[in-house]
Amino acid sequence: MRNEYPDEFEAFSESHTRTWYRFGAGLDRALDLAPVYDRFGHLFGRDEIAALGEAAENGFGELDRKEARYLRAAAIEEHLSSATRELDEIIADRDAAETVAWEGETLPFHSLRSRIRNESRPEVRSELARRRERIVEGSNDVRAERFDKRAAAARSLGAVSTAALCSDVYGIDYTALRDRASVLLSETEASYAAALASLVRKRSTVDIGDATREDLLYALRFAEFDEAFPAHRMPMVYRDVFAGLGIKTGAQRNIRLDLEDRPSKNPRPFCAPIRVPDDVVLVVRPSGGYADYTALLHEGGHAQHFGFTSPGARVAFARAGDRATSETWAFLVQYLLLDDRYLREAFHIDPSSELRRLAAIEKCSVVRRHVGKLRYEEALHSGRLSLGSAPAAYVEELEGATMVRYPRSDALSDLDDGFYVADYLRAWALEVLVREHLKTRFGNRWWSSRAAGALLRELWATGSEYSADEIAAELGLGPICFEPLADDLRRGMAA
Ligand SMILES: [Zn+2]
Repeated sequence: MRNEYPDEFEAFSESHTRTWYRFGAGLDRALDLAPVYDRFGHLFGRDEIAALGEAAENGFGELDRKEARYLRAAAIEEHLSSATRELDEIIADRDAAETVAWEGETLPFHSLRSRIRNESRPEVRSELARRRERIVEGSNDVRAERFDKRAAAARSLGAVSTAALCSDVYGIDYTALRDRASVLLSETEASYAAALASLVRKRSTVDIGDATREDLLYALRFAEFDEAFPAHRMPMVYRDVFAGLGIKTGAQRNIRLDLEDRPSKNPRPFCAPIRVPDDVVLVVRPSGGYADYTALLHEGGHAQHFGFTSPGARVAFARAGDRATSETWAFLVQYLLLDDRYLREAFHIDPSSELRRLAAIEKCSVVRRHVGKLRYEEALHSGRLSLGSAPAAYVEELEGATMVRYPRSDALSDLDDGFYVADYLRAWALEVLVREHLKTRFGNRWWSSRAAGALLRELWATGSEYSADEIAAELGLGPICFEPLADDLRRGMAA
């Protein structure tokens, strides 16, 4: 590895994140990453990857080898993405150009999911879903070409499959993880089935046997609780949740809250770590409602993690590393919204409220969906499953996991490139362990403990140097297993 590589990688990351931030925040009309890749694309060529691999094997100290391993993972990800960049643009352009004419309106493709989610008439939901599926089908030939190209790029780096390359790069055995995570399906099967049946019966006026993904989304809207989660309180709730941990967000110079309303600003909150830890932006366009608060606290967790990363951390540990680590911190803050005591104190929600149970069913369905996705994606990325058989396998796994109908059309569009699903699952599992640990040490109201805040800051200072598994070991919680998460999901739905 060249000595200058980490600094050059940091310059790339900064420039890349800033471009995304400006687009997502509505400051730039178009997302133009071409200049970023013109300038930094050479960092992800074969020679650089080989040099990083050499350093990961034979670097001087353990830390040097870990640094090289993390940078190699990031470089390989960029290398694979560069193989399909043109096809990605074709798909994005096609989708952006598509519309559906409906009841005198012209609905853009990208608005269909949220339109369907908010539609109370089941027959309209299903008709709009069918039209959306047809649009997705229209680009599936390009998606198939993209999939093949990526797999070929992985093989040209010497791996037998994309799955094998990802396993090597991230140090995770995805086949073993799939088997271990599958316990989530069996352990929550009965309670999820019962909770789902009563939810669908009560809230979406369709038969459970016919219920689709769209009916489930509709049933899980929580619209009747919107009043308890008004848009104008979002900045205060963000401030207060961290104030309890002894963190004064108002005094943080390195973490900005971008609240300005701009016409093309992304409605979903997101965190942009432009420079870690000096320039982190939490971008929010407050619209209110439970889901918006969920995203705010999730992204707030990311922002504090990046913002408290030690200024002396190596670039690889500030900007690369195990993605499950950052997701764990984000989930930890997000799931305060599933805590009875927190909901009562921050939002005056009664513990007997239906909201908590609905939110628990939603979490269980999302976790189960990710297990289904991991099972499907592991088979596809390892090459055991052919592209021709993918739609049937996708439907089988996703329907088995979520217990609602899924369309064949989404087998290639609802697909992660690099097993991010696995990182979410590992983070969900670790979050439960960390949360229980905090409760034991600092009490049930751990979020109002300065000592808990001090411990979190100590952990956040290490950035992403430690993998989720290493954090679990460090706190005496490891190895990460899925049974406590299954118990937590079951308890949530029973409460
Ligand atoms: Zn996240």
